[in-house]
Amino acid sequence: MITAMSSSLNPKRTVAELKELRALTGNENGAQRVAFTDTWLKARGWLRQKVVGLPLEIHEDAAGNTWFTLRGASEKALLIGGHIDSVPNGGWLDGCLNVVAGVEILRRINTQYHGKPPVTVRLVDWADEEGARFGKSLFGSSACSGNLDMNEARGLVDKAGIKLPDALKNVGIDFERVKDSGVELKNAAAYLELHIEQGPVLLDLDLPLGAVLGTFGVERHAITFHGQAAHSGSTPMNRRKDAFLAAAKMSLESYRIAERSGIGVCTIGSCTTRPGIVTSVVEECRITLDQRHLDAPALAKMLHEAKAASETFAKEGNVKVSWERLWQIAPRPFNEELIQFCDDAIRETYGKSHRLPSGPLHDAAEVASAGIPAVMMFVQSLHGISHNKIEDTNEEHLEMCVTGFDKLAEKTMSWVRKQ
Ligand SMILES: [Zn+2]
Repeated sequence: MITAMSSSLNPKRTVAELKELRALTGNENGAQRVAFTDTWLKARGWLRQKVVGLPLEIHEDAAGNTWFTLRGASEKALLIGGHIDSVPNGGWLDGCLNVVAGVEILRRINTQYHGKPPVTVRLVDWADEEGARFGKSLFGSSACSGNLDMNEARGLVDKAGIKLPDALKNVGIDFERVKDSGVELKNAAAYLELHIEQGPVLLDLDLPLGAVLGTFGVERHAITFHGQAAHSGSTPMNRRKDAFLAAAKMSLESYRIAERSGIGVCTIGSCTTRPGIVTSVVEECRITLDQRHLDAPALAKMLHEAKAASETFAKEGNVKVSWERLWQIAPRPFNEELIQFCDDAIRETYGKSHRLPSGPLHDAAEVASAGIPAVMMFVQSLHGISHNKIEDTNEEHLEMCVTGFDKLAEKTMSWVRKQ
C-alpha cells in the first residue's frame, strides 16, 4: 500500500548492516563482542561510523554508555536503547538488533523532520548488558538507573583476577563515578527497546512480533531437606527418613504451582544429595528453586505455596526442611499506554499482535524502575534459542520488526509531544 507520505525507512539496510557487524566482530563460534574488550570497542567504532552525516551529538556517559542525540524542538526525549555487547560465542542479533535498527529510525526521523523532530530522540548503547566477564548483567543501565550495588560491583573479579574497577579504568571509566550517568535520564519521557524474543512463544504461535508486558520478577531459593542416612538394604521402606523423597515431591509440585499461577514459571535447577552414595538413604538433599512471575502478588503467592508444600512433604516423610534466599528482584511491568502503542504498531505492520512477558531481564527493566515509561517489542527467534551461535531470526521478520518498531517510535514521539 502506498501512503501519502512514503517513509525513507530502509529495513533491508538494517539487515545488511547486521550482517556487516557479524562479519566484523564474529567468528565461526559466533559473536565475540564481550564488553570492555577490543572487539567490543571495534563494534562501537563501527556504530559511530554508521551515523556519520547525521546531525547527532555523540558522547559517552560516566558509566560508558554511548548516547546519540538528535535534538528536537522539545527537550523532552524519546530514548531508544539496546546493547552492542554480546556473550562470548553469542548470537548475531542479541542486543545489537536494537542499536542497528535504532540508527535506521534516527535516519528516517532526521529525513522526515529535516533534522529537527518535534521531540529530542536519543539512541543509547548500554555498556555491558550481558555481564559475561564479571557475572553481573545490566551494568551500564543499572548505573544509570541508580540501582547498581556499588559495594558488590566494586568487588567483582573476572577469571583472570582483574577487578571491575581496574577493567573500567582501562577503558577510561572511573568506577566511583558511574552513577553520575543518571543525569542522562533528566529529560527522558519514554524508552523503547527492540529485542529478539530468545524463547519459543512467538515461534509456536507462528507470529513475527509481540508486545512485551514487562520483565518477570524472580524469587530464587535453596531448599534443604534434612533426613537420616541409613543402610539401603537393612532399612525397611516405612522406617526411612528420606530427604530425597521430599525433594522429589517438590519437583512435581513446582509444576502445579507454575500451572496455577497462569504465566509464572518454576525451575528446580540443581539437586545435591549427601552422603550421595548408592547404598545409603539420602540424609540431606539441597535443591534450588527459581520462581518467576510478572505480577508481584502472584509471585509472592507462588513462593508461599512452595514453602507450604515443602513443610507438608517434610512432615509426611518425617524429615526437616530449611530455606535460604539466594536472590530476588521485583517484577518490572511496562507502561500500559506504550504497550497499547506497541500492539497497534505491530497490527499495522503484520495484522496480528500478541502480548507476552519477558523471562530474561533487559536494560528496559532498569529504565522502567527509574520511573520512565518503557516498553519492548519482541521479534520471533528461530529455534527459540539465543546466547548461542545458532541464534537466528527470519530476514523477513527482521525487516518487519524494523518497520513495526519505527511505527512505535513515531506513535511514542507524538505521545511525548502532547505531554
Ligand atoms: Zn540482549
